[in-house]
Amino acid sequence: MATKKVLIIGAGIAGLSAASYLQRNGYSTEIFEAHYLPGGLCTAWKRGQYTFDYCIHWLVGTNPETGFDVLWNELGAFQNEDGSKTQIRNFDESSRVELSDGQIVRFYSNADRLKEELLRVGPDDGKEIERLTNDLKTLSRLIPVADPEKRSVMYRLAVNLRYLSIMSRFMRHLKTPMQDYARKYHSEAIRKALLAVTPAEWSLATLTMGLGMQHSQAAGYPVGGSLNLARNIERKYLSLGGKIHYRHPVEKIIVKNGQAVGLALANGDQVMGDEIISAADGHSTLFQMLEGKYLTKTLQNAYTRFPLFPSSVFIALGIARDMKDEPKLLSLELDSPLELPDKSMHPFLSVTLRHYDPTLAPAGKTSASVLLNTWNGEFWKDLAGKDRPAYNEMKKEIGNQVIGLLEKRFPGIRSDIEEIDVSTPYTVQRYTRNWRGSYEGFGLTPETFMTRFPKMLPGLSHFSMIGQWTTPGGGLPPAALDGRNIAAKICRKDGRPFIA
Ligand SMILES: Cc1cc2nc3c(=O)[nH]c(=O)nc-3n(C[C@H](O)[C@H](O)[C@H](O)COP(=O)(O)OP(=O)(O)OC[C@H]3O[C@@H](n4cnc5c(N)ncnc54)[C@H](O)[C@@H]3O)c2cc1C
Repeated sequence: MATKKVLIIGAGIAGLSAASYLQRNGYSTEIFEAHYLPGGLCTAWKRGQYTFDYCIHWLVGTNPETGFDVLWNELGAFQNEDGSKTQIRNFDESSRVELSDGQIVRFYSNADRLKEELLRVGPDDGKEIERLTNDLKTLSRLIPVADPEKRSVMYRLAVNLRYLSIMSRFMRHLKTPMQDYARKYHSEAIRKALLAVTPAEWSLATLTMGLGMQHSQAAGYPVGGSLNLARNIERKYLSLGGKIHYRHPVEKIIVKNGQAVGLALANGDQVMGDEIISAADGHSTLFQMLEGKYLTKTLQNAYTRFPLFPSSVFIALGIARDMKDEPKLLSLELDSPLELPDKSMHPFLSVTLRHYDPTLAPAGKTSASVLLNTWNGEFWKDLAGKDRPAYNEMKKEIGNQVIGLLEKRFPGIRSDIEEIDVSTPYTVQRYTRNWRGSYEGFGLTPETFMTRFPKMLPGLSHFSMIGQWTTPGGGLPPAALDGRNIAAKICRKDGRPFIA
């Protein structure tokens, strides 16, 4: 059989995964990536002695008992360049909230310990706390299935009745907005703490899925961080004979007689292939590269009405201070909310202290970041387009403001800060081209969760779409799984056995 050529748009985790599985199954694959690095949103960057990690807080599949580790191992995600295996860190305390009145709420990873802590803070909320922590134990078993043959919810329901009770709880949480859920508690401290760790508009499921995974230690942190993980997957793919063309943005998908046949690149070149996979931003794939010609009702509805995950203003700090005694994720209630120039309001500062990863800063120093979610991503793009000096000045000012706020909790920290870098939603758009700078595609709601996004488009053969814009809620595991599933599907279509 002649070797088929598959062209993949985007070297994020979804694109790398698809390319890696297809390459090992006898296809000749090439990735075209706009940026100069692999990983897409799964990235990090260096400033001086510090590495600022943008993405991974927790990664489903770090625990072999989940079964999902198989996929990461197939991709070589935990195999480092020096031959060592990536160390995984799990944490006793997943985050801590400090309220302005001095009260502290610790979100322990273990559900029983979390129960004790919440009962200490809100002794009148016993019933709700019991319910929450029981649900966490149940949800801790809800792991994506790595085997493509077992991926559908229907299959899982049929083969495993246990899933019924897990899914019913998951759906109940999915339908509950955080702000409604928080109101169930008498304790003001618990109410505030819940809304500090998960935005009011988000679904309760985003909190409980995360905490559930911490309870079962299903989702740890891979030491080396996000870019190291992407680099590991890239290296394995290249070793299989794959090719990545960095700094090669794709402008159009070339279609002839209803079949995707090639790519038109921004540099004017055209590249022809037998199959095209877009693992790039969903909006630009559908509306620019395919000129809006292959939209289904579902897609039209989604891109008009569905809520998006937010983008963020991210303040990265290189701090010449050992902060190992501090929690890894700290939400600090501010005396008065911080208002960003895009009009988003922030009653809490969420500070990540990555002291648990020695590869990110020299001994005795800390790579840290403050993440401020915003849905007003276009503000930053407009400003940068109209007045670049004002945009740069605003970033500087936000950095200053944030350091000022941190001073209260960490006296003298300003003089320990050696590096500062502020990224905005516009930065996310520039480097990853994600629509409105969203960092996980569509938000997770009952409607988005139940919507089956087509990976193939009507009237267009030899084309598929994968990645976070095709799986509401996004995240690294669905991106990697998408790549595997599409490779298996293409193999099936061509009558080849799929080799993992
Ligand atoms: C702050 C933050 C924290 C996160 N935390 C976690 C976490 O703890 N755990 C977790 O599982 N997930 C987390 N995520 C989410 C996760 O990073 C994403 O959902 C996932 O990386 C998406 O992968 P993807 O391959 O679908 O898309 P992307 O990463 O967006 O990759 C798409 C790629 O396509 C390229 N591209 C776009 N357009 C073109 C074009 N025209 N031509 C060529 N190339 C193009 C882009 O440059 C990019 O490299 C986090 C994300 C962020 C930003």
